[in-house]
Amino acid sequence: TFADLNVVAIEASCGDGDRTIPLASALPDDLFEHDGQITKREIRAVTLSSLAPRRGELLWDIGAGSGSIAISWMLAHPSMRAVAIEAEADRAARIRGNASSLGVPGLRIVEGQAAEALAGLPDPDAIFVGGGGSRNGVVETAMGRLRPGGRLVANAVTLEMEAVLLDLYARNGGELSRIGVTRAAPVGGMSGWRPAMPVTQWTWSK
Ligand code: SAH
Repeated sequence: TFADLNVVAIEASCGDGDRTIPLASALPDDLFEHDGQITKREIRAVTLSSLAPRRGELLWDIGAGSGSIAISWMLAHPSMRAVAIEAEADRAARIRGNASSLGVPGLRIVEGQAAEALAGLPDPDAIFVGGGGSRNGVVETAMGRLRPGGRLVANAVTLEMEAVLLDLYARNGGELSRIGVTRAAPVGGMSGWRPAMPVTQWTWSK
């Protein structure tokens, strides 16, 4: 249950001092160790909603970065399972650290390049493509492996990845949206709105 989970999460964070893990599905960015390549909280909230987690399901988080999406998926319910696929060794190690400090040590981490790294994995119920999607065939391979009734969500920040998503949308339908987040930040001695790069999100159900 959520209550049990919170106890686990709070205990897991005790060594760190004063962190408390909220029950919200999209946690603050700074609860994850990251190198700047993290899906920001506002975008993560929409992404998790689009992934529509259901009990017991398996997620592939392709280009997992800090692991924020896979870890949030696992935190939704103790029955959740996830595989984080990440090409870079230092990031894969960081995902391991985040999973254990946030109370989901069962997260499976595959260090390798999509699409090759997907070959030996069990078919998923949901897929998030946060990186590697502009490589030839990555999204198509993922679509092919998605179980019937499953959801695939892909986010694009670059024009190259956006072009891939526009093409997939034209050929397969689904939903396309563009999310812009603007946060207040210091400007000299005052504050101003600092926009983050807009994210194009494609959601497809099988
Ligand atoms: N959703 C992540 C951020 C993803 S950033 C988070 O919230 O932390 C994109 C990531 O994709 C980077 O870590 C990059 O190393 C990884 N990546 C890029 N191409 C990849 C590929 N072909 N296979 C696996 N990972 C890849």
